[in-house]
Amino acid sequence: MSSSLDLDGLAEALGERGRRDEPLAHYTAMRVGGPADLLIICEGVSEVVEAVSLARRFRVPWRLLGGGCNVLVSDRGVEGLVIVNRADGATFNPAKGTARVEAGALLSGVARQAVEHGLAGLEWAVGLPGTVGGAIVGNAGAFEGDIASVLYSAMVLGPEGEVVERPAGWFEFGYRSSRIKQGETGQDEERYVVLAGAFKLEPGREDSLKARMEEILEWRRTRHPSGATMGSTFKNPPDSHAGYLIEQAGLRGYRVGGAQISELHGNFFMNTGTATADDVLVLIEYTQHEIRRRFGIELELEIELVGW
Ligand SMILES: Cc1cc2nc3c(=O)[nH]c(=O)nc-3n(C[C@H](O)[C@H](O)[C@H](O)COP(=O)(O)OP(=O)(O)OC[C@H]3O[C@@H](n4cnc5c(N)ncnc54)[C@H](O)[C@@H]3O)c2cc1C
Repeated sequence: MSSSLDLDGLAEALGERGRRDEPLAHYTAMRVGGPADLLIICEGVSEVVEAVSLARRFRVPWRLLGGGCNVLVSDRGVEGLVIVNRADGATFNPAKGTARVEAGALLSGVARQAVEHGLAGLEWAVGLPGTVGGAIVGNAGAFEGDIASVLYSAMVLGPEGEVVERPAGWFEFGYRSSRIKQGETGQDEERYVVLAGAFKLEPGREDSLKARMEEILEWRRTRHPSGATMGSTFKNPPDSHAGYLIEQAGLRGYRVGGAQISELHGNFFMNTGTATADDVLVLIEYTQHEIRRRFGIELELEIELVGW
């Protein structure tokens, strides 16, 4: 990847924490993706703030990564700094019905912890891969729940380096979208980072909440393929399901190189072990073409393309 004085300056400032030419396949659920020029794993919120501030100071492009579950990273990798967020502190207040969680915490684990504290509202998130930050950015949801319905506010790092609390309404949540997701394609200087989320939950009975989570996990186990995947590749078009359309088009099991449409679920694209990101993108584009040709429907990506 590119080398520049700025990158060298940033690498020096990050010291041993910065990893050069780190393969991103290790950090994505699809297990594809070329190297990041520079990568840092942050275990605390202040480290995330510092990494972004340094990247801005050295004018190096940067990109946050949570669990890497909703991204397709190009085989050519990502220019600049990739910041892997593993800041995962969490506090629960059953009396007030609230939880405050750092953005690098795994959402599914937070859902379990909430139930252990007798707090209801996040059961839908059990088994949903990825971090709280990634979930807020993409307004993740399942089983008639989503982030928009439980988030009260979030602490964000803004374009000027300010750390501020923003109410949920500020995020302009839509179906698998937020103002931050839409802004991801914008300039680095304008981009926000989610540092922590505050959730409004309700008291609930631990045994019945646990039973509901078991049902959800069983549903995922039987309906979703296991293996390297990004989950749903496409958003559901109005009044239809992307997976259903793909299956009706006869594309179940269709393969390009090492990338394959799951036999179990048409909207899940799998890495059979040898896929490149190019294979996956060709499969995505072929699927979009076939659905357009057969049904006149435009399939919009739910996943994000990174480094293309
Ligand atoms: C098997 C499987 C099942 C899935 N099922 C579901 C489902 O039922 N419902 C659903 O909604 N999704 C589902 N997904 C998709 C995925 O789990 C969610 O989109 C998840 O919320 C992504 O979180 P992440 O931490 O992996 O985000 P990443 O993929 O790491 O990042 C996604 C985007 O958010 C940005 N980002 C990440 N963290 C931050 C931050 N702190 N601040 C600013 N930007 C940030 C990244 O730069 C990127 O643009 C599934 C995925 C898989 C693999």
